[in-house]
Amino acid sequence: MKNLYILILILLTNVAFAQTDFKRIEKDINYLSSDKLKGRFPGTKQELKAADYIIKSFKKSGLKPKGDENSYLQAFPFKVSKNPHATDDEMVSKGYAHNVVGYLDNGAKYTIVIGAHYDHLGLGLGGNSLDANPENKIHNGADDNASGTAGVMELARYFATNNVKENHNFLFICFSAEEEGLLGSKYFTNNPSIVLNDVSFMINMDMIGRLNDSTKKIIISGVGTSPTWSSVLSNHQNNIIKYKADSAGMGPSDHASFYLKNIPALHFYTGTHTDYHKPSDDAHKIINLGEAYVLNFIVNIVNDADKVEKLGFTPTKTNNASSSSTSFKVTLGVIPDYAFDGKGLRLDGVSEGKAAQKAGLKQGDVIIMMDDLAIENIQDYMKGLSKFTKGQTVQLKVNRDGKELILPATF
Ligand SMILES: [Zn+2]
Repeated sequence: MKNLYILILILLTNVAFAQTDFKRIEKDINYLSSDKLKGRFPGTKQELKAADYIIKSFKKSGLKPKGDENSYLQAFPFKVSKNPHATDDEMVSKGYAHNVVGYLDNGAKYTIVIGAHYDHLGLGLGGNSLDANPENKIHNGADDNASGTAGVMELARYFATNNVKENHNFLFICFSAEEEGLLGSKYFTNNPSIVLNDVSFMINMDMIGRLNDSTKKIIISGVGTSPTWSSVLSNHQNNIIKYKADSAGMGPSDHASFYLKNIPALHFYTGTHTDYHKPSDDAHKIINLGEAYVLNFIVNIVNDADKVEKLGFTPTKTNNASSSSTSFKVTLGVIPDYAFDGKGLRLDGVSEGKAAQKAGLKQGDVIIMMDDLAIENIQDYMKGLSKFTKGQTVQLKVNRDGKELILPATF
């Protein structure tokens, strides 16, 4: 499949790749998700190693430091109690984690923020891993979120070295402790190093490294946070990248911290997969050329939105599917296809040994009913799940290649 990309690359040559370089993206992701960095847990030596790497890149691009005391680092309190087994050797920062902040001063009144979290689950000791036995396995987090971090570095290079003076300044920021509850972005928006009121909009990238070969479809959340977004996005409908728009400004990543400060924010995402929050989220599974396409798409969106002096903000309805506050007593063990547009819940995969697999569900199945509840979308599915407790059996009506099946699944 990579050959297909190379073919497209040859066909498009300069047009698509005047902007970002997939070889550099690959190099950055390979380093950040290497075993050397031990999964980039906040507050560790390896977190600072990753920060150092980002700082070198920001410096090379000519960004100014915009962290604490004329440095690129913004320290914030982070208790490591969730990672009780970390050795002293790993814990050098004594209760602090660090955002990395660089600034491109275009002498403008308003600023565009481009960000991504660079932390991940470390050695799997913090309770966020989905591996059956996560302890002391390195969670490399190549897609989550070395991919977004490489995206910030690449977009910083692009906007700082393109010999164009945009209408806005740019703040490039890599957040830490996102996985522990958006801590870095919350800290920054409560202790900003620029005037938050002068931020026109925020772009967040969290997991942009797994662009599907055939559909080339991404998910863009936050489209309802400004009236400008739908018009800007509709100008790029015919780009190589297809997208599914989600209006919600609230969501389980750092754009939510900006949305809560009434700043229009978009989140870019290539979708989930079976390696999500597992030690197997590795660099060799990243589609680097696909990420370059996503970044070029973002460049086009940012350039269009740069023409608007300051984006207007609109609040959005909270999307229950993405709010992390929902809790369930049971799980089916399925990976939903968030990019699916049709009726029902399409499965990107099923987890080993969980209820769905035992019931015979397969990748590509579309769940259309749970008992007598019609499932039209992921919200319906969440609603359905919340009704069950362990040991109960649900009759799942599933559409498989156009045929309807009833599969009983026991939680
Ligand atoms: Zn993430």
